[in-house]
Order: sequence, then structure tokens, then C-alpha cells
Amino acid sequence: MTVTAYHIPVLSDEIASLARNRRRFVDCTVGGGGHATILLRGGGDLLAIDRDHEALEAARTVLSGNQVRWLNRSFADQEALEMIREFRPDLVLFDLGVSARQLDSDKRGFSFRPGVPLDMRMGSGDKSAADLLNELTQKSLTSLFAEGGDERRARRLAAAVARRRQRSPFRISDDLVNTIRSVLGPRSGPSDFARIFQALRIAVNSEIESLQKSLPVVLDALAQGGAVVVISYHSGEDRVVKRYFQEWARSCICEPGLPVCRCRGRALGRMEPRKPVQPTGDEISNNSRARSARLRVFVKSDAC
Ligand code: SAH
Repeated sequence: MTVTAYHIPVLSDEIASLARNRRRFVDCTVGGGGHATILLRGGGDLLAIDRDHEALEAARTVLSGNQVRWLNRSFADQEALEMIREFRPDLVLFDLGVSARQLDSDKRGFSFRPGVPLDMRMGSGDKSAADLLNELTQKSLTSLFAEGGDERRARRLAAAVARRRQRSPFRISDDLVNTIRSVLGPRSGPSDFARIFQALRIAVNSEIESLQKSLPVVLDALAQGGAVVVISYHSGEDRVVKRYFQEWARSCICEPGLPVCRCRGRALGRMEPRKPVQPTGDEISNNSRARSARLRVFVKSDAC
């Protein structure tokens, strides 16, 4: 296992075996460079992307001496997508979400530890978590908590947020934790806070939309036989990945009932394996971030 002080990479063995016999890598979420180090073990070129400049600085140190091109952008930005296309990779990795370093740094505002500012921005420019809580309509908050946070009492939670912000705006973690407690009851705890905070973070950083925008471009950019590899930590993200991969793996995507096939008429590659890979109990006990990880791989056909 490659352990950097920054972050312990998840599902390292799987990433190492996918890297074998491949040489042109894009790491769309380079973070502390843990996975990237594994990708480059047997040599090769890397395009390293992260929207967080602190992550890129850490990865630069870890990866010094390798052939790396760096880009401090979201992987969904036009500039990043063009670079990925030009690079013609044979493996593109997304290890979604936040790094341990980002979670541990109070000033970044990802954590529900007391007194942490409700920020959660990975890059610059987006609205902060506090802005969303203070500005979104009650209806948008309801769907954020329900769809992003699998929260059964989403409507009541959104109403409680709307009531609270009339008294004083949301500013720090405690403001949201207390509101969650007031709706979910005194027995609510860290796993509930984590779920709701994660939903808010995904909304702050438009994480689902970024993935939806990037995946088709990445498939197109891949060399023949190349692989898109996604590790997700949230059911909504995993659903997006699965839908794309399943659609690409179908040989015909016409509406049922059409007399002749009018689509591409062939699969663009295959899901390999068909089911997502999840970490073992051992890995989870060494690295709690691995708990919800799901890895999916799509291998582009040699004929595309
Ligand atoms: N695989 C890395 C850890 C990645 S943690 C390692 O082994 O060290 C996830 C990283 O993805 C974070 O650094 C975060 O800033 C970055 N990230 C999340 N969404 C992104 C996006 N849309 N574009 C670029 N980077 C993103």
C-alpha cells in the first residue's frame, strides 16, 4: 500500500493491476498523489488534474522525478477536457469526493466538527455551503436532502433550515448540526451528520453534473482498449457511472419497436467486471474512507 501523509489511496491493488500494460494515464483527482504513484510504478506518462491547488502541491512532491503534466482545474472544465482529449490516454481515473487532508483541515469547512465554517468549496468560485443553506428555496433544499442525503425527513429538515435562517444566517457547522438534531432527534449522530454534510458538499461543488459532463468526453478521448476507472463514495454518483457504462456496453440503443436499428449498432466496449468492486473488511478497518467505495471499470473496445 502506498501511504502518503496526505491520504491513504483506496483499492490500491485493483488500481495497480489496471495500470499493468498501460502507459498513458490521466488522474482526474490526483489529491495527494497516492493512486498516481501506483499508476506510474511501471513507468509511463501522467496528466494530473485537481481543482484544489493545495492537493497539486502535495502531489508534486510525491511524484517528483516522473513524467507529469499538471492542471489545476475541475476535470469538467473545457480546458481539462481538451487536454484529456489531446493526451489520448489508455487509463483515466476518477477517485471522487474529498481527500483525508481536505476533511481534516477545518478551514476548508468540510467537517461537522464544532466551530468549522460551512464552506466546502474544493476550488474557487462556487457558492459556499452556508450560501446554499441561506439562499436555496425550501423545495431545492428538500430535494438536496432527499436525493443527495437519502434523508426520509427531508421536507421537515428543509423547513427547519428555512425557519432557522430567518433568525440568523447559517455560518458554522454547529448551526447545521443543531438543525439536523432538532429534526432527527437526540439519537441522531455522526453518521447522519456525515450523510447530510456530504449531500451539501456534492451540491456546492456540482459533483454529479461534473461527472455527467466528463464521462462521455473521456470515453471519446481514450485510446482503443483504454479504461475509464471510477471510484465513487455516494450512491448518486455510482448511479451516474453505472448508467453511462451500461449504455455504452449495449449494442443497440434505439427505442424498442423501431423496425431497423438507427443507432451506432455496436457496443462501445464492456464493463469489466460487471459488478462494482468493493474494499475488503481488512481494507475498511485500516482506512475508514474505504467504507463506501465502489470501483467501476469500462474498457473501450479495440474497434472504436
Ligand atoms: N486518489 C487520490 C485522492 C483523491 S481525493 C490519492 O490517492 O491521493 C479526491 C480529490 O479529488 C481531491 O483532492 C479533490 O480536490 C479532487 N476533486 C474532486 N472533484 C474534482 C473535480 N471536479 N475536478 C478536479 N478535482 C476534483
